[in-house]
Amino acid sequence: MAELTERPFPPGDYPLIVVGSGPGGLQVSSALRGHGIDHAVLSADMQPAGMFRRWPFFQRLLSWTKPFAPVARGTRPYERYDWNSLIPETDEHRAVMVGLMDGTSYFPSRPEMQAGLEAFVSRTGLRVRFGCRWTGTRRLDDGRFELQTSDGTYTAGTLVFAVGVAEPWRPTSPGMELAAHYADTRPVEQYADRRIFIIGKQNSGFELASGMLPWAKRIVIASPSPAKLSVNTHSLVGIRARYVQPYEDHVLGGGVAILDAAIERIERGDADGAPFRVVTRRSLDSVEMVFDADDVIAATGFVAPLLDLPDLGVATFGQSRLPAQTPYWESATVPGIFFAGTIGQGSAGLKKHGIPSNSGAVQGARYNARVLARHIATTRFARADERPAVARDQVVDFVLDELTLGPELWHQRAYLARVLSLDPTEGIRDDGIVPLAWFVDAGGPDAIAATLETDGTGAVYPVVYLRRDGTVTEHPIEAHPLLDYRTASARSDLAGILAPMLGRA
Ligand SMILES: Cc1cc2nc3c(=O)[nH]c(=O)nc-3n(C[C@H](O)[C@H](O)[C@H](O)COP(=O)(O)OP(=O)(O)OC[C@H]3O[C@@H](n4cnc5c(N)ncnc54)[C@H](O)[C@@H]3O)c2cc1C
Repeated sequence: MAELTERPFPPGDYPLIVVGSGPGGLQVSSALRGHGIDHAVLSADMQPAGMFRRWPFFQRLLSWTKPFAPVARGTRPYERYDWNSLIPETDEHRAVMVGLMDGTSYFPSRPEMQAGLEAFVSRTGLRVRFGCRWTGTRRLDDGRFELQTSDGTYTAGTLVFAVGVAEPWRPTSPGMELAAHYADTRPVEQYADRRIFIIGKQNSGFELASGMLPWAKRIVIASPSPAKLSVNTHSLVGIRARYVQPYEDHVLGGGVAILDAAIERIERGDADGAPFRVVTRRSLDSVEMVFDADDVIAATGFVAPLLDLPDLGVATFGQSRLPAQTPYWESATVPGIFFAGTIGQGSAGLKKHGIPSNSGAVQGARYNARVLARHIATTRFARADERPAVARDQVVDFVLDELTLGPELWHQRAYLARVLSLDPTEGIRDDGIVPLAWFVDAGGPDAIAATLETDGTGAVYPVVYLRRDGTVTEHPIEAHPLLDYRTASARSDLAGILAPMLGRA
């Protein structure tokens, strides 16, 4: 009973409301608190950790936390090696995950990830109203928003939705309703000695196949296009190399078939035979292939549970129904509504060389959330922005340090940038971490933006963007094999690039 009466954030009016208690909601709440922004956090869940309370089912996470690294544990540079801890506002709560992993792998298990997120909440004292489901939304005459929830009505001028992209989605092919979704997967021993047909060649399909390999009689994994590996796309959107054991079984004929084929329909099987028949058409030659299966699983993806936000005018796009967003993760069509967590993928950034950001995973989304909190604090709550002065003779070393050690540039390549502005009246100021797409498109005073980029060949190299008299130019610096740019050659390259700017400031 005590817990019920102590639930924070009862229905009422708040300056800002965050919805969701997954990594996205927790990270943005922590950062908002760091900026002193009063806000409520509501979640349908009964405890923190969001999707990681349930998924991934069988396999360890895709994202690593390396206990031993070339830099000291628990420092900002260490975040390059710890992809899974949320970022606190005080140093003592950094790198929470490391102490909770049992050392058998540097990829945390799902329960370890859940424990890490729970520990972050209890150690930092974050507060969430659990068991409170948002059910509807209305725009009030004064421009504020009303949220209807299972606990009553809330109002706020600013909303941050961190509701994830975890609502099961399946295509409309005939008979698809006969397939179970990834979300309905049963305990693995229930797949013993069965013929399993998995639709979808993304991480979730391969994760299931890997987990079922010791149990299944046969596994077929099918979708029209060939699988993409994450090592080639330099992000987690392709299949993580750790999940590709089914490929080996496929190549060696170990009871796994990986098929490029469209699913034409799923039918119930004969009373005496397999429960399901899956009719496919091969992408290569349009030949029909039919498979008997005991289980058909649609690992066909997820959508964002936006409820009635589209009716309010929030534009969405693509199969995941992601909201269209500005570079600062604000709805492109309804100002005042922002997004955090994996849903922030809807702000695609520049996608240089076609490579997406890591906003769909914790290691990218956690920085977006911190940049978002600062943006909201300064633009909607008139908080003073801290922009420390940087001495002219320190600029080159400052930029090279960030390129070598800064975790934001490392995890969000060509997406987030470190910006220094050069206003003649203010001198040189550190504007902090800024979305690169905003820097490039929004205009503004003369400024330098430094980021890391990758072009798909394996190279990771710095790129410096200069904005001079409103025109943006781009200047790559040669890649260093150990990614250490505090070298005489990088210093000389950067000094040459910056000379025309620094001469003016
Ligand atoms: C199968 C799978 C495996 C993945 N593996 C990894 C991985 O290994 N590493 C990684 O970094 N990322 C992984 N991801 C991506 C992952 O989704 C994100 O990194 C992260 O969990 C998303 O956090 P989030 O806070 O945005 O959303 P979620 O964790 O999904 O949290 C959403 C929150 O919103 C709440 N909510 C939703 N609707 C409502 C409502 N109407 N009212 C109130 N509350 C609501 C939920 O209760 C929940 O608390 C994986 C995704 C999937 C689908």
